[in-house]
Amino acid sequence: MYKQIILRKNKEESLLRRHPWVFSGAIDLIDDEISDGDIVSVFDSRNKFLASGHFQNATIAVRILTFEEIELNQSFYNKVLSEAIELRKTLGLFSKENSICRILHGEGDGLPGLIIDYYNGVAVIQCHSIGMYQSIELISVALQTVLGKSLKAVYSKSSETLHNKADIVDSFIFGTCKTPHKAKENGITFSIDWVTGQKTGFFIDQRENRKLLSKYAQNKKILNTFCYSGGFSLFALKAGANEVHSLDSSKKAIELTEQNVGLNKLEENHMTIVADAMEFMKTVDNSFDVIILDPPAFAKHRDKRHQAIQGYKRLNEMAIRSIRPGGIIFTFSCSQVVDKNLFTHTVIAAAISSGRKIRILEQLHQPADHPINAFHPEGEYLKGLVIQVS
Ligand code: SAH
Repeated sequence: MYKQIILRKNKEESLLRRHPWVFSGAIDLIDDEISDGDIVSVFDSRNKFLASGHFQNATIAVRILTFEEIELNQSFYNKVLSEAIELRKTLGLFSKENSICRILHGEGDGLPGLIIDYYNGVAVIQCHSIGMYQSIELISVALQTVLGKSLKAVYSKSSETLHNKADIVDSFIFGTCKTPHKAKENGITFSIDWVTGQKTGFFIDQRENRKLLSKYAQNKKILNTFCYSGGFSLFALKAGANEVHSLDSSKKAIELTEQNVGLNKLEENHMTIVADAMEFMKTVDNSFDVIILDPPAFAKHRDKRHQAIQGYKRLNEMAIRSIRPGGIIFTFSCSQVVDKNLFTHTVIAAAISSGRKIRILEQLHQPADHPINAFHPEGEYLKGLVIQVS
């Protein structure tokens, strides 16, 4: 049915374990004229069918969409999207109080190379493979079928993620909607701009951790570093913080934060700082009760891991040194190559260097709308700790 790829002898093991990637080194024979984005079927060295997926001439040569011998047609996408959306509904993410969620999280939802974020009636699709980009019409129709009237528009934003393909233009592929567009996370309104914003416009993966901050925020003086559009700041203000200082090195991010704080009428007690977080931390006195550290990924590849760890250690050490006794730090890493244990040990090493004692109060991770495919442990990326410094 589809073009064929045959694996070298004994290279089928990871597929038999349902890991959804085929590396180029595992391939023995490949049909002529296969191009990037084509759907291929993968066979073992004895010609037994294993799986089908999208081909790309790269280290990850095939991203698997199915382990069954089926067609990857409209009904396939309808089924996967319907299951994914059903889960988010069960989680209460489509409600009056919450209209922001990740509808589809790549391998975690069975569709490697595809991210779909939802903002109050608008789905923003981000493709990480050419094959997914070529299937975008099927995906858009599946979204319309499953979400019905509640879906106003579908925006395709893959020019950044597929930057080596010059012909990719970001645009609406169904309906339209002006930006910025208002949507709610746990009762707080955010103004979201997928056109000019980072990623798809908002960092949805911190939802549960922002909610948790509410518990620690009342009457506290809080520093939210790497604030982007102010998510943590808003939850702290709403929970009755005395003072919230939002910091980001991007002026645009600070403008977004101010806009969101204004939208929720929480301007009182809020201050902003445009600065490099590392530099700013050198100057803080020990008056903060709570500090949030949510930097961008310090390492995108394994070969940068060591450097990243040094970065996390320095940042955490500065926060631990400067926080008021009894203070709380929410500290995160979204570097996939720095795992939970390594991150925890790095924070502990930072505490040892600072000469202060810490306790781990909570261990945090990515939320259920960013699920981890158990056969693809690489999908775990966000980890965090709530520590108390004595
Ligand atoms: N906590 C945010 C998401 C953070 S994304 C939320 O809840 O939405 C990371 C942010 O760090 C981006 O906004 C980026 O502009 C900012 N950033 C990157 N490098 C920085 C630096 N050196 N100092 C301060 N901010 C930085």
